[in-house]
Parts: sequence; structure tokens; C-alpha cells
Amino acid sequence: MTTSKRDYYEVLGVARDATPEDLKKAFRKQALKFHPDRNKEADASDRFKEVNEAYQVLSDPKRKAQYDQFGHQGVNGQAGRGFDGFEGFGGFGDIFDSFFGDSTRQASSRAADLEFQVNVSFRDAAFGVPRELELNRMERCDRCDGSKAEPGTDVVECSTCHGEGKVRRTQRTFFGQFQQVTACPACLGEGQTVKTACQQCSGRGTERNVRKIEVQIPAGVEHGTRLVVHGEGESGGKGNGNGDLYVHIGVQRDKIFSRRGNDVLMMAEVNMAMAALGGIINVETLEGSHDIDIKPGTQSGSVSRIKGAGIPHMGTSGRRGDQLVELKVVTPKDLDERQATLLQELAESFGLERVGENSGAGSGIFGRFKDAFRGEDS
Ligand SMILES: [Zn+2]
Ligand SMILES: [Zn+2]
Repeated sequence: MTTSKRDYYEVLGVARDATPEDLKKAFRKQALKFHPDRNKEADASDRFKEVNEAYQVLSDPKRKAQYDQFGHQGVNGQAGRGFDGFEGFGGFGDIFDSFFGDSTRQASSRAADLEFQVNVSFRDAAFGVPRELELNRMERCDRCDGSKAEPGTDVVECSTCHGEGKVRRTQRTFFGQFQQVTACPACLGEGQTVKTACQQCSGRGTERNVRKIEVQIPAGVEHGTRLVVHGEGESGGKGNGNGDLYVHIGVQRDKIFSRRGNDVLMMAEVNMAMAALGGIINVETLEGSHDIDIKPGTQSGSVSRIKGAGIPHMGTSGRRGDQLVELKVVTPKDLDERQATLLQELAESFGLERVGENSGAGSGIFGRFKDAFRGEDS
């Protein structure tokens, strides 16, 4: 499942080089335009939410920069620290409260968001993978479409609040008399009640379903990334927006590869003789294997780069990191007699003294061959 999203600048109706002041102005204008109190069109609350989201991102310099570079993927996939990470996204309710000062609205309420953890392999994270998620979530009842009434029966105005959805209660206290406005307890603030409750949902308007949805884990995703799938959270009753689905990505470790930015790191062993003389080794890559030229005189710890064999940049087509292969020159351990002799000759050609001597006799290869070397020397 992918949600196609509109460009944030387009949503706010500003140019890409808009100043923070321009953004703020545009946000106010658009927010007022789509405020569901003023705008009765069906998609007003969605548009309002979209405007809110666009402003949340573009008003934050860091997220704006990510968005400018990577698009929606860049800001949806932020490194999450856990489930508290998404609060910064700015809830629909929050903005109403702070901007319009009305917290009793029902139409603005959104059903709960869902959290889901998905673990993928290192390679799937690199190239992306579709994943089917099985969600256990509240959904709008399909029999009554969330109206709570048995189809064909009437919905009537609530007799307690006379359709207002609110009740006023007068409280007398030591300090005087207070009037409190609360949601009507009889109709739970909806202003209407049903005569005959829907059979399927027992008049709740919602029911719990197990639903399979497919999400595309994007190529290049990092461990700890949190993806947002809008509208795939829980559903409320009629008039309530759906919650969002937050997918937390865990990337499994790989036996061979690790990741640094978009580069893939690995270690490869090079035999001492090849390191000295040069040659070719074949190393594994994310998609297969690749030959690496070993230059004569290669030192342990030197790094060979395979261009473009790394991890794709998330949200941008084509660009990929590199694969960095750290070469580890390996000293052979189990020499046979001939190899030992050749190395001894080699050592002599370098003018090395005391080669093959070892105070810890018997502990190493040269310890074992010490006698043999001595024999040749004399
Ligand atoms: Zn129902
Ligand atoms: Zn009522």
C-alpha cells in the first residue's frame, strides 16, 4: 500500500524559497480555508490535516532540509527513538486547540494510531521489500457504516441534549457558581441516538477486524526508521478520521556487511603473498560478487572501494553508496615444510636476522621449524 502525497509546498501554495514568514502566513490562510467548521466539503478535514502536516515539516528547518533533499520519504522515515517520537508530528487535535481554541469539537477527533514493528534483513532494507502486515484494528462497521443504527431504522435527535451534543452543568462551590460544559453522556456528544442498534456492531459503529495490508518497505531504509501510512490506523465512528499507522523498522545484522550512511562495509582477507605481489580477489556484494584488484605491496587496513555497490539513497532514484572493503593481510599459520623454507629464504633475502628464533619454543610455527632452520644454517 502506498499513499501518494502532494508536495508540501504545493499544499501550502508557496514557492520553494518561501521565507518562514511566508510559510506561516500561507499556513494560516490554508488552515482557515479548510477548517471543518467553516468548510463543509467532505474532504475538508483531510485537507486540513494535510496543511497541518506540511507546515509541521516546512516550519522545522531540519525536517525542511530533509524534505527538500529526499521528499516525503525523508521526513516520514525519521530515526525513531521509540513510541514517543511521533508526538512532534502535531496531532490534529493539538492544532485545533492551540489555533482555534475549541477543544469540544467532535468532528476533529481522530481514531487511534497504530504501531507496528517490522524486522527486515540487511539486504531487504537495502533494496526495499513489500510486506504484508496483519493488523488487528477497530474499523467502521460495514453494516451501518458507522451510524450505529440498524439499516432502515431511524436516527433521532438526542432528547438529553436536544441535538447539541453538549450539556451544561452548574456547579456550586465554596467559591461560587460555575458552569461546566461537557459532552452529553446520553449520546456521547453526538447529538443523536439510534432507535434500533445495528445488529452487527451492537450499536457501537465500529468493530474489531483483522485486516491484512501491504506496505512497501522503501529501499535504503535504516534501522530505527519510522514510516507513516496515513489513514491505516484505527477507524472511529461516522465523522471521525482514521488514525495513522506507524511502522517501525528493525534491520537485522548481516554476517558480512555493515552499514555506514549509504556505504556498505566489509572485511576481506588477503594472503600475505598476494598482498606483496598483487593479484585479484573476489568478494561478495549485496547483489552477487565482484573482483577487486590487489595492488602489489598492499598493506593491512587499506580500503578498496567498489563504486555504486552500496545502499540506495532512500527516496531518490538511482543514487547509491559504495561498498568499502577493508583488506586484512593474513599471515599464514599452518606452513608446510616447503613454504617454511621459502619464507626462510625470503627472510634472508631481506637481510633479516634471527628469523625463526623464538623464545617461546613450540608456541608458534617458527618455533616448530626452528631446528630445521638451524640445521640448514650450519
Ligand atoms: Zn453497525
Ligand atoms: Zn445528547
